Amino acid sequence: MHLVAIGGSDAGISAALRSREFDPTSDVTVVVADAYPNFSICGIPYYISGEVTHWRDLAHRTHADLQATGMRPRLDTLAADINVPGQRVALRGPDHAQSWLDYDELVVGTGAVPVRPPIEGLQHLGIKDGVHLLHSMGDTFALTTTLDEDGCRTRQMLGDQTPKVGHELRRKTLRRRCRHRSDRAARARAW
Ligand SMILES: Cc1cc2nc3c(=O)[nH]c(=O)nc-3n(C[C@H](O)[C@H](O)[C@H](O)COP(=O)(O)OP(=O)(O)OC[C@H]3O[C@@H](n4cnc5c(N)ncnc54)[C@H](O)[C@@H]3O)c2cc1C
Repeated sequence: MHLVAIGGSDAGISAALRSREFDPTSDVTVVVADAYPNFSICGIPYYISGEVTHWRDLAHRTHADLQATGMRPRLDTLAADINVPGQRVALRGPDHAQSWLDYDELVVGTGAVPVRPPIEGLQHLGIKDGVHLLHSMGDTFALTTTLDEDGCRTRQMLGDQTPKVGHELRRKTLRRRCRHRSDRAARARAW
Protein backbone atom coordinates (compact mmCIF):
# COMPACT_ATOMS: atom_id res chain seq x y z
CA MET A 1 0.00 0.00 0.00
CA HIS A 2 1.40 3.37 -1.01
CA LEU A 3 0.06 6.31 0.98
CA VAL A 4 0.83 9.77 -0.31
CA ALA A 5 0.35 12.70 2.06
CA ILE A 6 0.38 16.16 0.50
CA GLY A 7 1.56 18.67 3.10
CA GLY A 8 4.37 18.33 5.61
CA SER A 9 2.94 20.07 8.66
CA ASP A 10 0.73 18.77 11.48
CA ALA A 11 -1.87 17.04 9.29
CA GLY A 12 0.38 15.47 6.65
CA ILE A 13 3.10 14.33 9.04
CA SER A 14 0.59 12.94 11.58
CA ALA A 15 -1.09 10.91 8.85
CA ALA A 16 2.26 9.62 7.62
CA LEU A 17 3.49 8.70 11.10
CA ARG A 18 0.23 6.97 11.98
CA SER A 19 0.25 5.00 8.77
CA ARG A 20 3.78 3.74 9.46
CA GLU A 21 2.78 2.94 13.05
CA PHE A 22 -0.26 0.90 12.03
CA ASP A 23 1.55 -0.89 9.24
CA PRO A 24 5.36 -0.70 9.27
CA THR A 25 5.41 -2.26 5.82
CA SER A 26 3.38 0.61 4.32
CA ASP A 27 5.07 2.74 1.73
CA VAL A 28 4.59 6.40 2.70
CA THR A 29 5.56 9.50 0.75
CA VAL A 30 5.07 13.03 2.09
CA VAL A 31 5.03 15.78 -0.51
CA VAL A 32 6.04 19.15 0.96
CA ALA A 33 5.98 22.43 -0.95
CA ASP A 34 8.84 23.91 1.06
CA ALA A 35 11.98 22.67 2.82
CA TYR A 36 10.56 22.75 6.36
CA PRO A 37 8.64 19.58 7.19
CA ASN A 38 7.17 19.11 10.68
CA PHE A 39 7.95 22.62 11.89
CA SER A 40 6.00 24.16 14.77
CA ILE A 41 3.99 26.93 13.15
CA CYS A 42 2.66 27.76 16.61
CA GLY A 43 6.22 28.44 17.74
CA ILE A 44 6.86 31.12 15.10
CA PRO A 45 5.92 34.04 17.43
CA TYR A 46 8.49 32.69 19.91
CA TYR A 47 11.18 32.69 17.22
CA ILE A 48 10.21 36.23 16.18
CA SER A 49 10.62 37.33 19.81
CA GLY A 50 13.96 35.54 20.18
CA GLU A 51 12.70 33.17 22.90
CA VAL A 52 13.37 30.37 20.43
CA THR A 53 16.89 31.30 19.42
CA HIS A 54 17.32 29.34 16.19
CA TRP A 55 14.67 28.63 13.59
CA ARG A 56 15.86 25.03 13.41
CA ASP A 57 14.61 24.58 17.00
CA LEU A 58 11.07 24.96 15.67
CA ALA A 59 11.37 21.56 14.02
CA HIS A 60 9.53 18.82 15.91
CA ARG A 61 11.63 16.33 13.96
CA THR A 62 14.52 16.77 11.57
CA HIS A 63 14.44 15.54 8.01
CA ALA A 64 16.67 12.64 9.13
CA ASP A 65 14.26 11.80 12.00
CA LEU A 66 11.39 11.66 9.53
CA GLN A 67 13.33 9.43 7.15
CA ALA A 68 14.19 7.16 10.10
CA THR A 69 10.46 6.48 10.62
CA GLY A 70 10.43 4.94 7.16
CA MET A 71 8.51 7.71 5.39
CA ARG A 72 9.89 9.43 2.30
CA PRO A 73 9.71 13.22 2.54
CA ARG A 74 9.88 14.95 -0.86
CA LEU A 75 10.81 18.52 -0.06
CA ASP A 76 10.48 21.63 -2.23
CA THR A 77 7.95 19.65 -4.23
CA LEU A 78 4.55 21.02 -5.15
CA ALA A 79 1.51 18.83 -5.74
CA ALA A 80 0.13 20.53 -8.83
CA ASP A 81 -2.69 18.21 -9.89
CA ILE A 82 -4.57 15.13 -8.71
CA ASN A 83 -5.79 12.58 -11.20
CA VAL A 84 -8.40 10.73 -9.13
CA PRO A 85 -9.42 8.02 -11.65
CA GLY A 86 -5.74 7.31 -12.36
CA GLN A 87 -4.83 7.55 -8.63
CA ARG A 88 -1.81 9.71 -9.20
CA VAL A 89 -0.56 13.15 -8.26
CA ALA A 90 1.33 15.51 -10.54
CA LEU A 91 4.43 16.84 -8.80
CA ARG A 92 6.63 19.81 -9.61
CA GLY A 93 10.03 19.24 -8.04
CA PRO A 94 12.85 21.60 -7.02
CA ASP A 95 14.12 21.56 -10.63
CA HIS A 96 10.57 22.50 -11.81
CA ALA A 97 10.38 19.21 -13.69
CA GLN A 98 6.94 17.60 -13.60
CA SER A 99 6.39 13.95 -12.78
CA TRP A 100 3.55 11.70 -11.63
CA LEU A 101 3.39 9.81 -8.37
CA ASP A 102 0.99 6.86 -8.04
CA TYR A 103 -0.94 6.34 -4.81
CA ASP A 104 -3.29 3.83 -3.24
CA GLU A 105 -4.43 6.21 -0.52
CA LEU A 106 -4.17 10.00 -0.60
CA VAL A 107 -4.22 12.47 2.30
CA VAL A 108 -4.48 16.16 1.44
CA GLY A 109 -3.12 18.17 4.36
CA THR A 110 -2.35 21.44 2.69
CA GLY A 111 -3.54 23.67 5.53
CA ALA A 112 -4.94 27.13 5.15
CA VAL A 113 -4.12 30.30 3.24
CA PRO A 114 -3.82 33.58 5.16
CA VAL A 115 -6.73 35.92 4.45
CA ARG A 116 -6.11 39.49 3.42
CA PRO A 117 -8.80 41.63 5.04
CA PRO A 118 -10.81 43.78 2.60
CA ILE A 119 -8.88 47.00 3.18
CA GLU A 120 -8.61 49.20 0.15
CA GLY A 121 -5.16 49.11 -1.40
CA LEU A 122 -3.95 46.22 0.74
CA GLN A 123 -4.10 43.79 -2.16
CA HIS A 124 -1.40 45.81 -3.95
CA LEU A 125 1.01 45.80 -1.03
CA GLY A 126 3.63 43.16 -0.30
CA ILE A 127 6.89 42.44 1.44
CA LYS A 128 8.76 45.27 -0.29
CA ASP A 129 6.19 47.64 1.24
CA GLY A 130 6.69 46.08 4.67
CA VAL A 131 3.37 44.19 4.54
CA HIS A 132 3.72 40.56 5.60
CA LEU A 133 1.51 37.51 5.91
CA LEU A 134 2.69 34.98 8.47
CA HIS A 135 1.99 31.33 7.93
CA SER A 136 5.09 29.47 6.74
CA MET A 137 8.81 29.43 7.49
CA GLY A 138 9.33 31.37 4.26
CA ASP A 139 7.00 34.08 5.59
CA THR A 140 8.90 33.99 8.88
CA PHE A 141 12.28 34.59 7.24
CA ALA A 142 10.82 37.45 5.19
CA LEU A 143 9.39 39.06 8.33
CA THR A 144 12.56 38.68 10.43
CA THR A 145 14.59 40.13 7.56
CA THR A 146 12.29 43.17 7.46
CA LEU A 147 12.41 43.54 11.26
CA ASP A 148 16.20 43.22 11.28
CA GLU A 149 16.62 45.67 8.42
CA ASP A 150 14.26 48.39 9.58
CA GLY A 151 15.30 48.24 13.23
CA CYS A 152 12.58 49.18 15.73
CA ARG A 153 10.31 51.39 13.68
CA THR A 154 6.60 51.34 14.42
CA ARG A 155 4.71 48.37 13.04
CA GLN A 156 1.07 47.46 12.91
CA MET A 157 -0.34 43.96 13.38
CA LEU A 158 -3.59 43.06 11.64
CA GLY A 159 -4.68 40.08 13.75
CA ASP A 160 -4.15 36.60 12.45
CA GLN A 161 -6.14 33.43 11.92
CA THR A 162 -7.06 33.60 15.61
CA PRO A 163 -7.17 36.75 17.76
CA LYS A 164 -4.91 34.93 20.22
CA VAL A 165 -2.16 34.54 17.60
CA GLY A 166 -2.28 38.20 16.60
CA HIS A 167 -2.10 39.26 20.23
CA GLU A 168 0.73 36.83 20.99
CA LEU A 169 2.73 37.95 17.97
CA ARG A 170 2.23 41.63 18.78
CA ARG A 171 3.46 41.06 22.34
CA LYS A 172 6.44 39.03 21.21
CA THR A 173 7.47 41.34 18.40
CA LEU A 174 7.54 44.20 20.88
CA ARG A 175 9.62 42.09 23.25
CA ARG A 176 12.03 41.25 20.49
CA ARG A 177 13.54 44.74 20.27
CA CYS A 178 16.77 45.43 18.45
CA ARG A 179 19.05 43.20 20.45
CA HIS A 180 18.38 40.23 18.17
CA ARG A 181 19.39 42.09 15.08
CA SER A 182 23.07 41.23 14.91
CA ASP A 183 22.58 37.77 16.46
CA ARG A 184 20.13 36.83 13.79
CA ALA A 185 22.25 38.23 10.99
CA ALA A 186 25.14 36.13 12.27
CA ARG A 187 23.05 32.97 12.23
CA ALA A 188 23.05 32.06 8.60
CA ARG A 189 20.18 30.24 7.02
CA ALA A 190 22.35 27.10 6.64
CA TRP A 191 20.17 24.08 7.36
C1 LIG B 1 1.74 32.30 13.56
C2 LIG B 1 0.82 31.14 13.92
C3 LIG B 1 0.70 30.73 15.26
C4 LIG B 1 -0.16 29.68 15.59
N1 LIG B 1 -0.28 29.31 16.92
C5 LIG B 1 -1.13 28.30 17.26
C6 LIG B 1 -1.28 27.91 18.62
O1 LIG B 1 -0.69 28.48 19.53
N2 LIG B 1 -2.12 26.87 18.88
C7 LIG B 1 -2.80 26.20 17.90
O2 LIG B 1 -3.53 25.25 18.19
N3 LIG B 1 -2.66 26.55 16.58
C8 LIG B 1 -1.86 27.59 16.25
N4 LIG B 1 -1.75 27.95 14.93
C9 LIG B 1 -2.48 27.18 13.92
C10 LIG B 1 -1.73 25.89 13.54
O3 LIG B 1 -0.39 26.21 13.23
C11 LIG B 1 -2.43 25.24 12.36
O4 LIG B 1 -3.72 24.89 12.77
C12 LIG B 1 -1.68 24.01 11.88
O5 LIG B 1 -0.37 24.35 11.46
C13 LIG B 1 -2.44 23.39 10.73
O6 LIG B 1 -1.69 22.30 10.26
P1 LIG B 1 -1.93 21.71 8.81
O7 LIG B 1 -1.03 20.53 8.67
O8 LIG B 1 -3.40 21.49 8.61
O9 LIG B 1 -1.56 22.88 7.79
P2 LIG B 1 -0.30 23.85 7.65
O10 LIG B 1 0.46 23.98 8.93
O11 LIG B 1 -0.83 25.07 7.00
O12 LIG B 1 0.64 23.10 6.63
C14 LIG B 1 0.33 22.96 5.27
C15 LIG B 1 1.41 22.12 4.64
O13 LIG B 1 1.05 21.86 3.30
C16 LIG B 1 2.12 22.20 2.43
N5 LIG B 1 1.51 22.50 1.13
C17 LIG B 1 0.56 23.42 0.84
N6 LIG B 1 0.21 23.33 -0.45
C18 LIG B 1 0.95 22.33 -0.97
C19 LIG B 1 1.04 21.74 -2.28
N7 LIG B 1 0.27 22.14 -3.31
N8 LIG B 1 1.94 20.74 -2.46
C20 LIG B 1 2.73 20.28 -1.45
N9 LIG B 1 2.66 20.80 -0.18
C21 LIG B 1 1.78 21.80 0.03
C22 LIG B 1 2.84 23.34 3.14
O14 LIG B 1 4.16 23.50 2.66
C23 LIG B 1 2.79 22.81 4.57
O15 LIG B 1 3.81 21.85 4.79
C24 LIG B 1 -0.91 29.00 14.56
C25 LIG B 1 -0.75 29.41 13.22
C26 LIG B 1 0.09 30.48 12.90
C27 LIG B 1 0.20 30.88 11.43
